[in-house]
Amino acid sequence: MQDISFWDLCLRSFEKSLPQQQFNSWIKPLKLQSENGSLVLTAPNSFTLKLVQERFLPEISRQAVLANSQVPHFVFRVFEATLDDKPRKVDISPKTSPLISDNKPKFETSFRSYGKLNPNLTFENFVTGKANQLAFAAATQVAELPGASYNPLFVYGGVGLGKTHLIQAIGNQVKINKPQTKICYMHAERYVSDVVRAYQSNKFEEFKQFYHSLDILLIDDIQFFAGKAKTQEEFFYAFNTLLDSHKQVIMTSDTFPKEISGLDSRLVSRFGWGLTVAIEPPELEMRVAILLKKASFCGLSLDEAVAFFVAKHVNSNVRELEGALKRVEAYAKFHQRTISIETAKEALKDILIAQSRQISIENIQKTVADYYHIKLVDLLSKKRPRNLTRPRQTAMSLARELTSLSLPEIGNAFGGKDHSTVIHACKIVTNLRASDSTIDADYKILLQILRR
Ligand code: ADP
Ligand code: MG
Repeated sequence: MQDISFWDLCLRSFEKSLPQQQFNSWIKPLKLQSENGSLVLTAPNSFTLKLVQERFLPEISRQAVLANSQVPHFVFRVFEATLDDKPRKVDISPKTSPLISDNKPKFETSFRSYGKLNPNLTFENFVTGKANQLAFAAATQVAELPGASYNPLFVYGGVGLGKTHLIQAIGNQVKINKPQTKICYMHAERYVSDVVRAYQSNKFEEFKQFYHSLDILLIDDIQFFAGKAKTQEEFFYAFNTLLDSHKQVIMTSDTFPKEISGLDSRLVSRFGWGLTVAIEPPELEMRVAILLKKASFCGLSLDEAVAFFVAKHVNSNVRELEGALKRVEAYAKFHQRTISIETAKEALKDILIAQSRQISIENIQKTVADYYHIKLVDLLSKKRPRNLTRPRQTAMSLARELTSLSLPEIGNAFGGKDHSTVIHACKIVTNLRASDSTIDADYKILLQILRR
């Protein structure tokens, strides 16, 4: 006997989440009964039934799984009045309805809708350059031999630099090489909410069954795990199980794993078992190449000179670069003009104005040196007394926060230090600001001065 008490809740949640007209047309007329151990879902006509199956069944199924201790078997019917006024049973083969198979892990039903890969995010569409070549090489290797080369693969870097693109490209490539591979791509936030759900409904077994059954698990933006102990514990088990059975785990985050505060040190150390690679902001030529590639992908004719102009002025990340290209395209279309440097200039006017006010690293260094009454040469030197190291670390941290320069570029500007020194400096400043209110106040004043 299936428990159908969840149906009321399910209806209410649809009523909340859908526009009223949709709820009234598609959901309200449905009936759910329990019959011979199956859940019988009856719709008023076959059109509604098909639509419900396509759009709403994953959610209904998810709710049913949560309410029942086993995977429900669905039977679908259309209520077309017959002489005896009984609903007519519609034969729907299990093949056409992915959610009615009995032997699938229960959590899978809910993952199907969001565990999918975006087919446009491929290696082919990914432009490589100095900023990402190591990450790209590692990714292609993992795609060739998942579970066998770098495991886990950990990709980190700032927003909009192509982390999601790159790891999804791995998934898409494996799908081509070995279509049977069970791949799940998931944003870390989704994983967290699944842990919460499993917790609320005491369904950890199913949860585990699903995650532990994968061949490749791609988890994006793992910094969202910070401070979520239960999630981290579950992930730790899933992670170990997958690695033990040579299944591939791929993760991304916005910073180096050790820098994610609130992440269990056991996890951090496990992440180090494989390969950790950075994606840096792309340099000018690479930004141009990206623009040209994006343009040709959209069938847009873009002159190299215009690409250079846009790339020169939009230097923060690839997502913004794409946005700028779209704006130029829309502007030209709207004004019925061809794409030229002139149209690009007009379309990106606000970016150009903002940029003329951009804060330079030299300005940061001078301001910090003035503020702490030290000489600029000392700030940039290798001398290590505390009265110099603190300001130096502060300046590095400010440069990280206020400019779009990469870690190596910042390190370079401080007398050829490497990127780990910059990471270390930022971490120290963050900790000091949290523990010492004077330091925090100084930092805020500097921010204010520099942003003026
Ligand atoms: P992240 O996950 O690092 O925030 P995304 O992977 O979402 O960044 O990338 C942002 C956008 O920029 C996406 O549309 C992506 O396709 C594009 N992109 C990023 N890097 C590249 C690249 N190297 N080549 C082509 N497109 C890129
Ligand atoms: Mg991303």
